[in-house]
This record gives sequence, C-alpha cells and structure tokens, in this order.
Amino acid sequence: MEIIIVGAGIGGLSAALCLAIAGHKITIVESASQLAEIGAGVQMTPNATKYFWKWGLGPDILAKAALPAAFNVRQDVNGHIIGSVPFANFEARYGAPYIVIHRADIHRILHEHAVKAGVDIKLSCRVVKYDFDGGGIVLANGDRLQADLVVAVDGINSSARESLCAGNSETHLTKAGWAAYRARVPVSQIRSDPRTALVVSQHNCNCWVGDSLSVMTYMMKSSELLNMVLSHPDDVDTKTWSQEEYKAKILRLFDGWDPCVIALIEMAQPNVQNWPVEQVMPLRRWASSTGRFVLMGDAAHAMAFYLSMGVSMAVEDAAALAECLSLRSSSRASLAEAMLVFEKVRKARVEAVREASLHAGNTLHLPPGLQREARNASLLSDGLNEEERNVDRFYAEGNAYGIADRRIRDWCYGYDVIEAIQEGWSHRLGLK
Ligand SMILES: Cc1cc2nc3c(=O)[nH]c(=O)nc-3n(C[C@H](O)[C@H](O)[C@H](O)COP(=O)(O)OP(=O)(O)OC[C@H]3O[C@@H](n4cnc5c(N)ncnc54)[C@H](O)[C@@H]3O)c2cc1C
Repeated sequence: MEIIIVGAGIGGLSAALCLAIAGHKITIVESASQLAEIGAGVQMTPNATKYFWKWGLGPDILAKAALPAAFNVRQDVNGHIIGSVPFANFEARYGAPYIVIHRADIHRILHEHAVKAGVDIKLSCRVVKYDFDGGGIVLANGDRLQADLVVAVDGINSSARESLCAGNSETHLTKAGWAAYRARVPVSQIRSDPRTALVVSQHNCNCWVGDSLSVMTYMMKSSELLNMVLSHPDDVDTKTWSQEEYKAKILRLFDGWDPCVIALIEMAQPNVQNWPVEQVMPLRRWASSTGRFVLMGDAAHAMAFYLSMGVSMAVEDAAALAECLSLRSSSRASLAEAMLVFEKVRKARVEAVREASLHAGNTLHLPPGLQREARNASLLSDGLNEEERNVDRFYAEGNAYGIADRRIRDWCYGYDVIEAIQEGWSHRLGLK
C-alpha cells in the first residue's frame, strides 16, 4: 500500500519504519524544516522496546541507552526508600528491557533506520487540509498528495484531530491538574557533593513522594546531566518567570524536603521549564468511515507521564497498524473493517492506560492519611498478593500504585499488542 504519515516525531518515525519493513511504500510529511527532537530524556517500557528490538534497533539503542537497575520510591523529608522495583529481571519477565535514552538519540536512530528501510521524508511540509474519506492531504504551499491511507501522528496539538472531530462539542485536550518543572543538573557537581553523590552512583530512577509534590530523577548513559522532573499542582502561571524566580519558587515549594533534593534544586542549570500535564480525552473515532485516514500517537491519546507510557503507546500503535494491514491483505476484509479493528483494540488499551497513568500520578501525591499508608504498605510488598491479580477491580478501588505495583507493571509491560489485534480481528464481523 502507499501510505502517507503526517509527523516525524518518535510516533511517526516508528510507524514509518514498521510499515516500511512490512513492505509498504511510505512517505512522511513533516512541518519542521529539520529533524531534531528537543527536550531531555525519555523512559521507555518493555511493551514498546520489544518492537524496537524486533525492528533491528537493539544494538544502536544499547549503545546510547541506560538500563536502570532499579526504581526507588523515597520519602519526601528524609529520602528513605519506601519501595524499590528491580528492573534487572524485566528482560526475562517482559521480553525486553526498560530503557532511559535521550530523545535526540532515539529520534536519530529511528530516522536512520527508516531511511534505510526506504522511507521518503519530506521536510517543511505542513498539512493544512485532509480529505479523510479519499486519502488525500493538502500542504501549506498548495500541493496535494494522495495515498491509499493517511496516518496522522501530528502530536498533542494535532490539527488533524481538531478537523476530524470538528462539530463535536466535547473538549478533547484537557488539563490533568498536575504540571512538571523539568530541570537538568551537572553530574560532576552531584558526584562531588556528599549530600547528593548517592543519586548518581548507579543508573537508578529515584522518586521522592510527598503531599501534592514529587521529584523524579534519572540519568542517561554517558550523560553529564541528571534529569529532574518536579511534579506540582498545575496552579501557577510561569510565563513571565525569570530563571532566578523559578529557582526561588521551587526551593520554597520543596522547603523541608530531603537535603539531597534541596541540593539538587540548588545545583540545577538555569534552563528550568514548566510543563502542564495535558491529556486527550476519549475521541469518538480515530478513523474515517472509508478507513483511508487514521489518527495515532499523542494526537489520538496524549496522557499524563506518570507511567512513562506516552511514547510506548505510539510504538504499540505502529505495531498494531502493521498487523491489521497484514491480516487484511491475507483476507477479503476492506480497509474500513481493518481500521475498525485497529480503532477498537487501540482505543480500549490507551483509554485504560491513560486513566491508570493519571491515577499513578494522583497516588504518588497523596497527603498523609490512611490512603497513603495503604500505598506505602503496597509499595513495600510490591503490590503482591496472588489473590489480588484482578487489576481492573483493584484499579477501580484505587488500590493500584503505578509502576511500583507489580500488578500494574504486568498489565502495562506484559501486554502483547499483536495478540490483542489478532484477537480483535477474530471478532471483527461483529464490530460497528
Ligand atoms: C514532561 C513530559 C515528560 C514525558 N516523559 C515521557 C516518558 O518518560 N516516557 C514516555 O513514553 N513518554 C513521555 N512523554 C510523552 C511523550 O513525549 C509523547 O507521548 C511522544 O513524544 C508523542 O510522540 P508523537 O510522535 O505522537 O508526537 P510528537 O513527538 O509531538 O510529534 C508530532 C510531529 O508532527 C509534526 N506536525 C505537527 N503538525 C503538523 C502538520 N500540520 N503537518 C506536518 N507535520 C506536523 C510536528 O512538527 C512533530 O514533529 C512525556 C511528555 C512530557 C510533556
């Protein structure tokens, strides 16, 4: 098939590579004039990295990614460990590692592999109009392009989504109630200070949790900088803040916290930014009625980052779409039917993960009280109780605690999107 992909972010490049490997002819149109992923590090989970390995990116990723040994959840005031998740067994348990990698590195690796697989990438091409039923797009310069299928992976502020959902009264992009200050701290400085040296002695992820606040740190391979993500209620307007104001206000917010956290904030480089956490609420449709257009990635399902599943969901989308098209080519199904299966299976998965991601954030930020005590007890036991494996029930009752809860990890990272699509395909005749 000839397929146009709109957007060359990590989601668009993953889709392009996977579909090109499957034998499709892929063109990416990207509005930016050059390919460069900005930002800091990204954590990626085994349910997605297993596809990176399948697509042949493993050696290139291992050369650049850190494989953290553990995820430590720590008390706000003294840094004592409440619970610790060992990452070492993830490869054996879930078939691939949990990785931390610089966005620019994973973006470059995907780009190089996509080009090698024959993907044509057109830069400075902003899509301004879609023919959803006819598989067409119009670029800002007036050019029209046509394909069998258009896949829009154009990010959280997707114009494709706005236009597909035009006329619906629902608000799709909503605030999650949290925001994150993102900062970077020089590793050499951290190493030379006895208050902070422990944080960089291993490639561990550390997360201090307190009332309405948390601080997550992780380090990338051979990196000279430690990443810090400081979550807080989304109730400040930082537009006019100078870097001095950022530091002073953050120090005030975390007053009384572990001296290690305070020292890290003091050492942060002057490039702190505030990121309000936004989510795309469930959309009625992702695909057009003919099946010649479909939305994917953040455009369809941006979510809070507390389970580190945003990029991973876009990678699952890519693998799912390739599987749907492969099942279609070996059957007499129409493209519309194939896209209906894709939409049905993917919507159910990402909507559950989106809710679980926000729930994970909310439970990290619990005030003192019974709920917090229950959370800490669960972290100590790694959420383990063989009778309590029904994640849906425990999640609904508010008893699941994000990545530090084995039930949630098994559900998130043990998921096999290919099996899910095959299962959905077997029921496709009943779909509407
Ligand atoms: C603070 C923060 C921390 C995060 N941490 C993690 C993490 O640790 N792990 C994780 O998995 N996820 C994380 N995420 C989420 C993750 O960054 C996103 O889920 C992911 O980058 C989305 O990829 P995408 O390709 O769908 O969209 P994007 O990366 O936004 O790419 C969209 C592309 O489309 C292009 N485009 C847009 N409009 C047009 C147009 N009209 N025509 C042509 N091209 C267009 C854009 O230029 C861009 O290149 C985090 C997010 C935030 C905000």
